[in-house]
Amino acid sequence: MADTIERSALLNRKMLIDGEWVDSVSGQTITVENPAKRQPIAIVPRGNAEDVDRAVQAAYRAFPAWSRTVPRDRGKLLLKIAEVMEARHEEIARLLAWENGNALRTQARPEAKNTADIFRYFGGLASELKGETIPFGEHVLSYTRREPLGVVGAIIPWNAPILLGALKIAPALCAGNTLVMKAAEDAPLAVLLMTEICQEFLPKGVLNVLTGYGPDCGAALANHPLVRKLSFTGSTEVGKSVMRAAADRIVPVSLELGGKSPSIVYPDCDEDWVVDGIVGAMRFTRQSQSCTAGSRMFLHADIFDSFLAKLKKKAEALKIGDPLDEATDMGSIINNKQFTKVCGYVSDGLARKDAKLVFGGLPPKDGPLSEGYFAIPTVFADASNDWRLAREEIFGPVLVAIPWRDEEDAIRMANDSHYGLAAYVWTHEIGRGLRAAHAIQSGWVQVNQGLGQVPGHSYGGYKQSGIGREFSLEGMLDSYTQRKNVTVNLNTPVRG
Ligand code: ADP
Repeated sequence: MADTIERSALLNRKMLIDGEWVDSVSGQTITVENPAKRQPIAIVPRGNAEDVDRAVQAAYRAFPAWSRTVPRDRGKLLLKIAEVMEARHEEIARLLAWENGNALRTQARPEAKNTADIFRYFGGLASELKGETIPFGEHVLSYTRREPLGVVGAIIPWNAPILLGALKIAPALCAGNTLVMKAAEDAPLAVLLMTEICQEFLPKGVLNVLTGYGPDCGAALANHPLVRKLSFTGSTEVGKSVMRAAADRIVPVSLELGGKSPSIVYPDCDEDWVVDGIVGAMRFTRQSQSCTAGSRMFLHADIFDSFLAKLKKKAEALKIGDPLDEATDMGSIINNKQFTKVCGYVSDGLARKDAKLVFGGLPPKDGPLSEGYFAIPTVFADASNDWRLAREEIFGPVLVAIPWRDEEDAIRMANDSHYGLAAYVWTHEIGRGLRAAHAIQSGWVQVNQGLGQVPGHSYGGYKQSGIGREFSLEGMLDSYTQRKNVTVNLNTPVRG
């Protein structure tokens, strides 16, 4: 199956509105490219405001029946979706690797399996949509209900599209909302396949998935008057525009945005397992196209050079190449725009007098890697946390290493960022590690590990990294339900 995908002519995919697979009203399309070969692989509809309106109206019509469906029955449908997602994970993973350049073995396959787990996790939570009773006194019954909000508008990016899509679909539907989701223009194919699997089980209109560009399709969704909740994953800049649209209509909003996450390495950690952890935290095998990438490494001055030498050895051993090859560790950057941006940061680093290139640099100009948007792991050492490479989210495999001697200084630099998504602390002294973890202003701090996101973990950012939490029961309750209080006077006179 997967091989036939790779050999076939241009795929032609449609979007899902009201249970039907449709083209855009305008008939316009978007061409999806395989970034590892820079070749077109598919066309999908280019949705705009008219398509958004049709999808939102369908979700609006589907809402009353879906919201009244017994939660346990909604959960059962999600569990069935999980089973098929699991059974077809290889097909989904190969499509994903093909369209977004993430390596099959290290990224796309684990993502497809984790996505099945997300449906399974939320499917099992339907009975947790519980309310409370409030002790107002013997003559009053006062209780709260968790009610869905209505039509949810969701917008997702391309870097982990099925996982991030499932993190909108599963909790929103479990809680009784209906959904219109816009896939990212660079990686819509695996999301559409996941949608196809969902649609085998869901009533029409409950889930609608659009393809299109941000300004004409995403913005129309964010601004649609019938959308009662917005959930966005992507850049901080677009997140702000989504929040402005939400403010205009007083619509609740969840935002999972960018990051420039610190890794603090203590002097007792000049060891191989920590170097492996840094490679994982930096998400080198996802070309560091991850908002949680630990891209600022505060490395104790005593171990600075020896640790970087070990890191060089490990990073240079990563095999970069065809995402579909089982031997590949690291695939390609998503598109030309991102590739050019990453190269721009590397050039800036090379031009800076204070910075030292430890390894890596600009991508090769010839040979097999020049066929696609392949970047190489790169580390710059610099004493400053203030330069552009240490402050801006690069979304590419460029790590900045900064030495420290005083712990307070390291934590101060770690917190000196407008982002606050993830952080990593490395030390054998657990008390010290936890003190640092508590002092760091980030929504997710890991001590002595770089990977490891599991369903149930409340995931989300501090500061400009976002608002709200995903991945967890609390995330579902906070993001996709609203509470209603009902108070009954039990002293109502009895008639008759
Ligand atoms: P990235 O840099 O990761 O591509 P973006 O924030 O640009 O992040 O894109 C994330 C998602 O937001 C994509 O689905 C994209 O189409 C969408 N998007 C981009 N611009 C807008 C916009 N102005 N309004 C709504 N959605 C947008």
